[in-house]
Amino acid sequence: MNTVLRTQDVTKLYGKGSTSIVAVDQVSLQIERGEFVALVGPSGSGKTTMLAMLAALLSPTSGAIFIDGQDLSQMKEKERARFRGQKIGFTFQANNLVPYLSALENVELMLRLNKELDKSGKARARELLVRLGLEERLNNLPNQLSGGQQQRVAIARALVHRPEVVLVDEPTASLDTERAYQVVETFSNLIHEQDRAGIMVTHDLRMTRYVDKVIHMLDGKITNILTDRQQIEILAKTSSFQAAENSGESLPLEFIFHSQPDSLSQPVIAAV
Ligand code: ADP
Ligand code: MG
Repeated sequence: MNTVLRTQDVTKLYGKGSTSIVAVDQVSLQIERGEFVALVGPSGSGKTTMLAMLAALLSPTSGAIFIDGQDLSQMKEKERARFRGQKIGFTFQANNLVPYLSALENVELMLRLNKELDKSGKARARELLVRLGLEERLNNLPNQLSGGQQQRVAIARALVHRPEVVLVDEPTASLDTERAYQVVETFSNLIHEQDRAGIMVTHDLRMTRYVDKVIHMLDGKITNILTDRQQIEILAKTSSFQAAENSGESLPLEFIFHSQPDSLSQPVIAAV
């Protein structure tokens, strides 16, 4: 295994003194090359704060973060900015597309900033947008795109410079269920094909079906880590069943065709 990202007792406090909030509490985790990880937990559990620290956008109050073997806290601000530009790709809930650039130009911008906008870079930007289903939208400005389309442009931008670590915050928040599955599956394929390390923050447990590891957070702490394929599938299927039941939708077809009741846990057997 080849560790791309490692944190050691990372803690983040907001504010000072008695009114301070512990947003992230002594989190230690490790992500390998070619691994796609979901960071899940309820609202306020510290997921976005954790992701912002991994993206070198926010400094931990204490603890250390190593990316590609390098300690982020030991870098000067300028060095950290350069490192972030080359090694890290990210998109946060507010996707920060440049309003006067087209979808394609927004993705190419990442390469321009790294002085890598050559022929192959341009081809890569276009190919990513096509794979994310935006072939017909390459030349549209962000305000001519739906929220979900903007989110997909931001995902392409997070991947185009082939960073070691790709971090996405709630990438499916404004997508319908089918589109959400497609986007996360494409993202998962890209992470695996290109041998990157990917972390997706989500509160939608159905999306865990495409990941290799699920890290649960609660009140700033890691409460559980799932790495077993079968357990992850059970989590994803149970969640899609619950979501379908809550919304009154019909049962997803996969329950009928792909379920293997013998290998599933009680709640899913009951569901099937
Ligand atoms: P999540 O992404 O899981 O919803 P966040 O990382 O956004 O969680 O927030 C974790 C905790 O830190 C919450 O209690 C939140 O209110 C608090 N928090 C987040 N950002 C700030 C901030 N800039 N200043 C003060 N408190 C914050
Ligand atoms: Mg958040």
